[in-house]
Amino acid sequence: MTTHTTRMLILGSGPAGLSAAIYGARAGMQPIVVQGIQPGGQLTTTTDVENYPGFADVIQGPWLMEQMQRQAEHVGARMMWDTITQVDLTNRPFRLIGDGGDVYEGEVLVIATGAQAKWLGLDSEEAMKGKGVSACATCDGFFYRGKKVAVIGGGNTAVEEALYLTNHSDDVTLIHRRDSLRAERILQERLFAHPNVKVLWNKEVREFVDGGGNAGLVALDLLDTVTGEHSRLDVEGGFVAIGHHPATELFRGHLELDSDGYIAVETGSTRTSVPGVFACGDVADKVYRQAVTAAGTGCMAALDAERFLAAAEFEELAKAAE
Ligand SMILES: Cc1cc2nc3c(=O)[nH]c(=O)nc-3n(C[C@H](O)[C@H](O)[C@H](O)COP(=O)(O)OP(=O)(O)OC[C@H]3O[C@@H](n4cnc5c(N)ncnc54)[C@H](O)[C@@H]3O)c2cc1C
Repeated sequence: MTTHTTRMLILGSGPAGLSAAIYGARAGMQPIVVQGIQPGGQLTTTTDVENYPGFADVIQGPWLMEQMQRQAEHVGARMMWDTITQVDLTNRPFRLIGDGGDVYEGEVLVIATGAQAKWLGLDSEEAMKGKGVSACATCDGFFYRGKKVAVIGGGNTAVEEALYLTNHSDDVTLIHRRDSLRAERILQERLFAHPNVKVLWNKEVREFVDGGGNAGLVALDLLDTVTGEHSRLDVEGGFVAIGHHPATELFRGHLELDSDGYIAVETGSTRTSVPGVFACGDVADKVYRQAVTAAGTGCMAALDAERFLAAAEFEELAKAAE
């Protein structure tokens, strides 16, 4: 059991955590990044990334994250392959414990633990991820230009994803297992008014159908939740939009979370309800959820943390001099 101490402790090694590490290291904060079970974060689970600025050609998600990690290490951040299981945010330095018992102490804490998309849990869904099945229309919609696509879900996200996909496809189907949507009325009105969107009510996806070879997704097998009838919808893209799980269980009772479980931050900043603790990336963002926004708020968190610590240290020095 070892104790690791740092001025800036960062939890999470996705674009938010690594961007915070780059800025923190360059501000002389000697950050430690606890990487968690998914070093590099969500982008390591995808292939083509076409919307991260700075690259004229398509890049690969795992490659981008490897570059970010190397850049953070190059400027002095230390990576720890551990997962935090306990936190104590009552006093500074904040004290976190890893699953092997190691202790991490940070004068400031940056939380960048991300959010994971919820999935339907079908074997065929797992097998077809990246081959026609996605949980992010903003990320992948562009790859389905001119193709038939479907969105599965009934809340705001599903309706927003369906409307977003009409930028690329003139044949978008929203599939919902009930006979009414949970989405806000104004979104529903826009959806129902759109000529390129149709809604299939009372339908559950039973299988994402693989066309074999390199075909990828070719159809969805559907079950009518009222009549029990099976039907098939030909599509090349299936977007699962049934919500996200922010990785905030650890912080329940320690930090203020919003009604959906995301870390609450002050508008326009990364400050949380505990002074000295900052949150960035998808763990505090249920609106944009993109690599570039995660990186942007990661930068903000490092700057907010550096300013907080400089002010706190100045105050402590002034008190000591009294
Ligand atoms: C398949 C897929 C494709 C995508 N494609 C694109 C795209 O093309 N363009 C785009 O901009 N965005 C894309 N996204 C979204 C993008 O990946 C996310 O918005 C982004 O990764 C969020 O970054 P983050 O740093 O906030 O969190 P994440 O990337 O989710 O990283 C979270 C980190 O926290 C760590 N962690 C969690 N819990 C703990 C713990 N207890 N202790 C220590 N560490 C912990 C994890 O190990 C991980 O390193 C895609 C997402 C997916 C799933």
